[in-house]
Amino acid sequence: MANQSLDVLIIGGGAGGLSCAMTLASAHTKSWFGDRRILVIDDARSDLDKAKLCNAPGVRVGELGSDVLKAMRSQVLQYPVSSIESGRVCSVSKSDDVWMATSEDARKWSARTLVFATGYKRCEIDGLPCTLKPHPRGGKSDRIMLPHDGAYSVSADVHVAGLLAGGSSQFAIAAGIGAQVAVDILSTWAGKRTHVHDVPEHTPC
Ligand SMILES: Cc1cc2nc3c(=O)[nH]c(=O)nc-3n(C[C@H](O)[C@H](O)[C@H](O)COP(=O)(O)OP(=O)(O)OC[C@H]3O[C@@H](n4cnc5c(N)ncnc54)[C@H](O)[C@@H]3O)c2cc1C
Repeated sequence: MANQSLDVLIIGGGAGGLSCAMTLASAHTKSWFGDRRILVIDDARSDLDKAKLCNAPGVRVGELGSDVLKAMRSQVLQYPVSSIESGRVCSVSKSDDVWMATSEDARKWSARTLVFATGYKRCEIDGLPCTLKPHPRGGKSDRIMLPHDGAYSVSADVHVAGLLAGGSSQFAIAAGIGAQVAVDILSTWAGKRTHVHDVPEHTPC
């Protein structure tokens, strides 16, 4: 999908980024969704890869985080409007209301909206729209967060998801912030407050 214009580019495909992507994409059949496209770019260093989960809601006790990540990627890819690419974003810039992200191997993506979901250990990206600050709940001095308005918006077209938004290091919190960011973006697209609920009798998946 390189060089293609996207609606949402999510930088980081761990718990927060993938949750954001799947919630966004799950609205693809709504009349107001249009032909929007979502892309996750990830460099495969999620903390979830190191975890064995016994306290994550809805996740089988003892499930490996690496298996949860695989399942989440499949959930994103079940939708025709969302994709995942491997890569490390090293810079972002904005021109004429469009964001451009560049990877370390010089691939470029343009997008209307950016979601930063790089985790709370690093966000090594030039051109960030604001300065990183110490994480309030990280427990270690080198943990970081991207400041936002209290509702995960840095500006109208920039959001922050997962632990980079300042939540404590639990899977449910990282994924929950990702879903909240998605619902807020969807509500902007819908022009009213919305959410995405599936029910057994009308669900294709
Ligand atoms: C050892 C360990 C055990 C854990 N056990 C539990 C547990 O039992 N229960 C529980 O609830 N939680 C547990 N956690 C916490 C859980 O894994 C995290 O809360 C969760 O993964 C955070 O999600 P996130 O999306 O913020 O960050 P991550 O999942 O770390 O994802 C961030 C992603 O962004 C990518 N990225 C970063 N920078 C870039 C860039 N510039 N370009 C592209 N991609 C980028 C990374 O590669 C990574 O994939 C554990 C964590 C660890 C480390």
